[in-house]
Amino acid sequence: MERLQKVLAQAGVASRRKCEEYIVDGRVTVNGAVVKELGTKVDPAKDRIEVDGNPISSEKKVYVLLNKPRGVVTTAHDPQGRKTVVKLLENEYAERIYPVGRLDLDTAGLLIMTNDGTLANGLMHPSKEIDKVYRAWVRGKVSAETVKKLSEGVELEDGMTAPAKVKILETARDETQLEITIHEGRNRQVRRMCEEVGHPVKTLMRTELAFLKLGRLRYGEHRQLSELEVRRLY
Ligand code: URA
Repeated sequence: MERLQKVLAQAGVASRRKCEEYIVDGRVTVNGAVVKELGTKVDPAKDRIEVDGNPISSEKKVYVLLNKPRGVVTTAHDPQGRKTVVKLLENEYAERIYPVGRLDLDTAGLLIMTNDGTLANGLMHPSKEIDKVYRAWVRGKVSAETVKKLSEGVELEDGMTAPAKVKILETARDETQLEITIHEGRNRQVRRMCEEVGHPVKTLMRTELAFLKLGRLRYGEHRQLSELEVRRLY
């Protein structure tokens, strides 16, 4: 038998300190019952332990940062038989890892993949307001006025977008490269925002998520996150 917080930390849920907080906050159940007592002893091989309703597993936790290429689907299965990000990495890791959130078929860039459901759910929760940075080449010359409009929020069919950070990075003859930082994750949000202000997106790439950056990874390349990076994401 082992202490509950140790078992949680070893399963990759979070640091020991954070796991203690989860327990005290009533987020952890053992065999269906909430356990708030820090010293509780459990048997990881026999007891069913869940955090926020997600079972912890003894499977090694894997955290990958992928530079998703265009033309690859961000799901585990594609009914149309197109290549998926899960397929892309299936020979690299023994564990089944899944994408956290989504990038469109035609969007490239930073995608986290993991078998850690607790982290995945946390990262996707809107209350976390995690910044995501996109580079978009859009049609036309974008004016300062349009930058202001985009950054204050635009009316989409599913409502007004939250304020965004928008910068012009480069202007070519009849197109503009924008850097757009949003924390919402609505379907095709950046494309729809740009379309709404009259500048359809030609190419789109996510370059940052929270403190993580793509760095030198080329399309299709990936690396594992360090322990410190994983801890900071929790
Ligand atoms: N916004 C989009 O329009 N597409 C993405 O893939 C991500 C954000």
